[in-house]
Amino acid sequence: MNIGFIGTGVMGTGIINNLLQAGYEVSVFNRTHSKANTVLNNGAIWRDTPAKVAQYSDITFTMVGYPKDVEEVWTSEDGVFAGAKEGSILVDMTTSTPRLAEQLAQTGADLGFKVLDAPVSGGDIGAKNGTLTIMVGGEQQVLDEIKPVLGVIGQQIVLAGSAGKGQHMKMSNNIGVAATVITMAESLVYAKAAGLDLESAYNVWRKGAAGSWSVDNYIPRIFQGDYAPGFYVKHLLKDLRIALDAAKEMDIDLPNTQLAEQLFERLSQEHGDEGVQAIVKLWASFE
Ligand code: NAP
Repeated sequence: MNIGFIGTGVMGTGIINNLLQAGYEVSVFNRTHSKANTVLNNGAIWRDTPAKVAQYSDITFTMVGYPKDVEEVWTSEDGVFAGAKEGSILVDMTTSTPRLAEQLAQTGADLGFKVLDAPVSGGDIGAKNGTLTIMVGGEQQVLDEIKPVLGVIGQQIVLAGSAGKGQHMKMSNNIGVAATVITMAESLVYAKAAGLDLESAYNVWRKGAAGSWSVDNYIPRIFQGDYAPGFYVKHLLKDLRIALDAAKEMDIDLPNTQLAEQLFERLSQEHGDEGVQAIVKLWASFE
C-alpha cells in the first residue's frame, strides 16, 4: 500500500518517519522543500505537487497549518482532488474547521473518493513516538480499511461520528489543552512569587490533582528555557478561534475559552512562532 503525506512540519515529520520505519513507501510534498529534508533522507519520495502525491498513493494524508492551507492543498488546480485515483482514501489530519471537513467529505464523495477528518492529540512527542490519539470523522468502514496504517501513527483511534465530528472532538480536546496550559503558567507564577522551590512544586502538581499532560511535558521545557515549538502559539490561537466560532453556531457560551483566546491573542503578537509553553512570558517574571 502506497502512502502520500502533504505537510512535513513538526507533526508530519514525526508521523512520516514512523510510516517509513514500518516499511511503507511514502510520497511527500511540502510548501517549503527544505523542511522535507529529514524525511527525504530517511527514504520518503518527493513529488512536485499535492496532485502528484495523491496520484501515486492509495491513502493520502494532509497535515498542514490552517483551514485555508487545507482548502488550497485539496481543491487547487494541483491539489489532492485533481490527482487522486478513483476509490482512494483521503485523510485530513490538520486541526481545521468542522464545516470544511464536511464540505471536503461531500465534494470527495461526489468525485468518488473516501474522505476522513482525523485530527490528532499528543503533541510533537506523540508524533515522534507513534503514540498519538486520532479522532476520526467519517465512515466506520473507511476507518477500518486504514486502521493498520493509523496503528503505526497512534495508540488510541476513536471514531467520533460522521464527517466533521473528528474536528469537533479535537476542538473539545483543545479547549482543555488551552485551560491546562494557562493554569500551569499561573501555578508557576504563584509558586515563584511565594518563594517556593519550583522543582518540588512541579512534583507536587504532577503527582496530585493538578496533574496534566501540559504540566508533565511543558514545565520541564520552561525550566530549561526551551520555548521551541512543540505546539505553536499561533496554532493554538487558531484552534481557540475555530472552537469559539463553532460554539457560536451551536449557541453556547464558553467564557473560559474566550479568556484563553484573549491571552493567546496577546501572546501571539510577539511569540506566535514559539511553543505554547511561552504562555509564562505573559508574566514579566518569566521573561
Ligand atoms: P508546522 O510545523 O507549521 O507544519 C505544517 C507544515 O505544512 C509546514 O511544513 C508547512 O509548510 C506545510 N504547509 C502549510 N501550508 C501548505 C500548503 N499550502 N502546501 C504545502 N504545504 C503546506 O505545524 P505542525 O505543528 O506540524 O502542525 C500541523 C497541524 O497539526 C496544525 O493544524 C496544528 O494545529 C495541528 N496539531 C499540532 C500539534 C503539535 O503539538 N504541534 C498537535 C496536534 C495538532 P512551510 O514549511 O512552508 O510552512
